[in-house]
Amino acid sequence: MPTFVRTEKCDGCKGQDRTACMYICPHNLMKLDKDGSETGHAMKAFNQEPEQCWECYSCVKICPQGAIEARHYADIVPLGGSVQPMRGSDSIMWTIKFRNGTMKRFKFPIRTTPEGSIDPYDGKPEADLAKISDNGFFHTANGFRAGDSSELIKA
Ligand code: SF4
Ligand code: SF4
Repeated sequence: MPTFVRTEKCDGCKGQDRTACMYICPHNLMKLDKDGSETGHAMKAFNQEPEQCWECYSCVKICPQGAIEARHYADIVPLGGSVQPMRGSDSIMWTIKFRNGTMKRFKFPIRTTPEGSIDPYDGKPEADLAKISDNGFFHTANGFRAGDSSELIKA
C-alpha cells in the first residue's frame, strides 16, 4: 500500500527542483506538481505510481514537514491505525496509533550520517556492471563466496 502526501503540510520543499522525497525514493515515485496540472495542487508532491511503492518509509522519514504518510496492508495496520515516524538529528520517534484509540510512542537513537555522504562500496571493489548478466554476479563477484548449506543452523 502506498504513501500519500498531506497537501496542507507539504511546502514543496520550498520550490527546490529536487525535493527531499524525490531525492530519497529508491523507486523514483515522488514527483512535485509544480503548476498543479497533474493533481490540482500546485507546488505539492505526490506519489506518481502508488502501486509501485515499497512502503520503505524513506520519504516518510525524510520529509521535513512530516507531510507524507503510508497506508498499510490491513493485516499489519488495521483500518484506522497508523504508524508514523518523526526524525530528529539523533533519534527517531515512532507513533503507533491503534484503531481503538490507544497510542504508543517509541524513540530510538539513529546514526547521524549526513545526507548523501554514504559510500555504497565502503572499501569494497565497485561492481563490474559488464558482468551483471552472469550467474552468481551478486553472490560470488568481488570475492564473496557461495553459500555452504552445511553452515546453516538447523533445529
Ligand atoms: S519532502 Fe515533504 S515537504 Fe518536501 S516536497 Fe516531499 S512531501 Fe512536500
Ligand atoms: S515509501 Fe519508499 S518506495 Fe514508497 S514512495 Fe516513499 S520512498 Fe518511494
